[in-house]
Amino acid sequence: MPREPRYDILFEPVPIGPVTTRNRFYQVPHCNGMGHVYPRGEARQRGLKAEGGWGVVSTQEVEIHPSSEWSPYIEGRLWDDGDARRLALMADAVHAHGSLAAIEITHNGHASGNLYSRLPAMGVSAMMIDGYEPAQAYAMDKRDIANVRRWHRKAALRARDIGFDIVYVYAGHDLALPFHFISRRRNRRTDQYGGSLENRVRFVRELLQDTQEAVGDKCAVALRFAVDELAGEDGIRAAHEGREVVEMLAELPDLWDVNLSDWSNDSMSARFAGEGFQEPYTAFVKRVTGKPVVGVGRFTSPDAMVSQITRGVLDLIGAARPSIADPFLPAKIESGRLEDIRECIGCNICVSGDMTGRPIRCTQNPTMGEEHRRDWHPEKIAPAAQPSAILIVGGGPAGLEAAMSLGRRGHRVTLAEAGPELGGRVLCESRLPGLATWKRVVDYRIAQLHKLPAVQTFTHSRLDAGQIPQFARELGAAHIVVATGAEWERSGIGRTHRAPVGADGSVRVISPDQVMADSNPNRNPNGGDNETAPAARGRVVIYDDDHYYMASVIAEKLAAAPEVDSVAVVTPAADVAAWTHNTLEQAHIERRLHGLGVTLIEKHRLARVSEGRLELRHTGSRCARAIAADTLVMVTARRPLDALYWQLDAGPGPVSEALAAAGVQSLARIGDCLAPATIAAAVYEGHRFAREFGEAANPDAGPFKREYVEV
Ligand code: ADP
Ligand code: SF4
Repeated sequence: MPREPRYDILFEPVPIGPVTTRNRFYQVPHCNGMGHVYPRGEARQRGLKAEGGWGVVSTQEVEIHPSSEWSPYIEGRLWDDGDARRLALMADAVHAHGSLAAIEITHNGHASGNLYSRLPAMGVSAMMIDGYEPAQAYAMDKRDIANVRRWHRKAALRARDIGFDIVYVYAGHDLALPFHFISRRRNRRTDQYGGSLENRVRFVRELLQDTQEAVGDKCAVALRFAVDELAGEDGIRAAHEGREVVEMLAELPDLWDVNLSDWSNDSMSARFAGEGFQEPYTAFVKRVTGKPVVGVGRFTSPDAMVSQITRGVLDLIGAARPSIADPFLPAKIESGRLEDIRECIGCNICVSGDMTGRPIRCTQNPTMGEEHRRDWHPEKIAPAAQPSAILIVGGGPAGLEAAMSLGRRGHRVTLAEAGPELGGRVLCESRLPGLATWKRVVDYRIAQLHKLPAVQTFTHSRLDAGQIPQFARELGAAHIVVATGAEWERSGIGRTHRAPVGADGSVRVISPDQVMADSNPNRNPNGGDNETAPAARGRVVIYDDDHYYMASVIAEKLAAAPEVDSVAVVTPAADVAAWTHNTLEQAHIERRLHGLGVTLIEKHRLARVSEGRLELRHTGSRCARAIAADTLVMVTARRPLDALYWQLDAGPGPVSEALAAAGVQSLARIGDCLAPATIAAAVYEGHRFAREFGEAANPDAGPFKREYVEV
């Protein structure tokens, strides 16, 4: 299908200094946890973005010298010619599809711990380094400044020589040294690099001039600059110094890449910001400079993109997360296949890869991070050598993804779901405050299933072990996949308690499933522990031993419930929703809960429930305290709903005798009913099952290609 003419503007070429991008789709620098450790993975992933139509594809941060080194986080590295050879793989992969390759070289000053290189950190001023490492940075003297300029220049030359088309000067977050120079909060210098804004901008200006002079004849020089830190008077503000910096340097770079700092503001999750949320801060830039401007805002809608351009907000549509969720987003707009776009849900699971020092993953796109090592293409999947008939029980993210991907491989699939709608946990969680975009996980897959005539879905179809042999025989299904999900524990069993917490029945104890029951169209499909749904009321305490988002969204929901008098969250961790540090949400969550009047009690474990009170113990001192409660919501472990699997597995053979008699050859369980985890993990497991189904594999061999260090 041809693209709709109203999107033509997105496919116009745009000159950027001495180079020209073929369209306006610009994958801005984003971390992927591959970089210098997995250079082939890096190259393949970025190459696929180019194949998917991104006119510019950027690296992540690329360290230019061991004096600014980011271990254990995995970023790019360009210290020497060996690094250059590895990075060249990426530039080549991007060029192979006619796109421009951009590189974000950086020195991060006192933001780097140098844990691997063990060099002392240096910074714009003497100060403690970021994070909790017991170390301080020394203030850079003139020789240090000259050194960083020389290393930056050398890195730019190496980048040019291996084919990069756009070279960055990076002042886009509070972790980049050039940004530290600009920041009044960081820069306490009294020489010509400190004091007035003109002085504080000097270092950035010099880096821009150095880079222009070194590579500007061949490469475009981009400046990534955070125009606002959302930190009030303490920080850079778009209406004040942010604007003045852009005015001072207006025509110096070939491209302005503008954003918000810090990263948790720049990559706000959908819970805290919608599509295009940066526009109020960045819109002024185009009025100040004649150079092209790229900006981000989790753009997934082509109409929103067109609007950015026609209203003169941006020239180029920047994207990190939308390009992760769908590397082929531009190609799909170009070919008029809008319904095929896998829209980013704004969950920030992708960010958690980098934050925890491992390769990237994505909730919507299970192939993300697997492009090289498993050879998974986001849009292609090998047809089955031998098509089979498969029955999948359970239509949550695992079952849906398996059905879709098995169907694409040419298998005949029947998906049976107990509830009235497909979607499993995603369906009810997406009705919690701030999580509406998560429904895209279901919507995308249902739309794709409609295109697969060999996949049929049944709702209102709760199957039990007695019915399945007969059903399988009728369908001719030789393979059964159980994807029946999990339910939340109510006993208190979780990380802190490996046995139930003692409770005398004086406080109503409920689970998240029960809190969600009013918005759950698949109410009680499993007939498990959470069958009835008593409402939370009175004084509510939420016990967060899960540490991800659930306790905090339940707190938000209940804080607005009329029958609830007060809400408190108790957690054994140092922070409520502690794991959401990895999705950049923790501080936002804490602020929101404070705003709603929710009491937070950290570092306390629940010892006992008795006489209408919760007895708590401090995790360190073990001091006791108690709080009165009418309702206790246990957000702890989840229990796999795997009874069906075990009933079907009964007996000595690979499947029960009844199944074998019905012609069933194999039985598998996937997703939460095997090992409860994130929605991303359930999608991934559904996908992996589909890719591996029917393929001969040596179970004792490694699961994927590894990138060995040369010895
Ligand atoms: P996952 O994340 O592994 O996909 P979910 O809990 O999201 O797990 O989804 C599991 C789905 O399986 C739910 O929609 C549930 O209604 C459905 N289900 C559970 N038991 C049965 C059953 N016996 N027959 C059909 N569907 C079932
Ligand atoms: Fe978007 Fe979530 Fe995928 Fe990140 S992990 S790209 S936020 S869907």
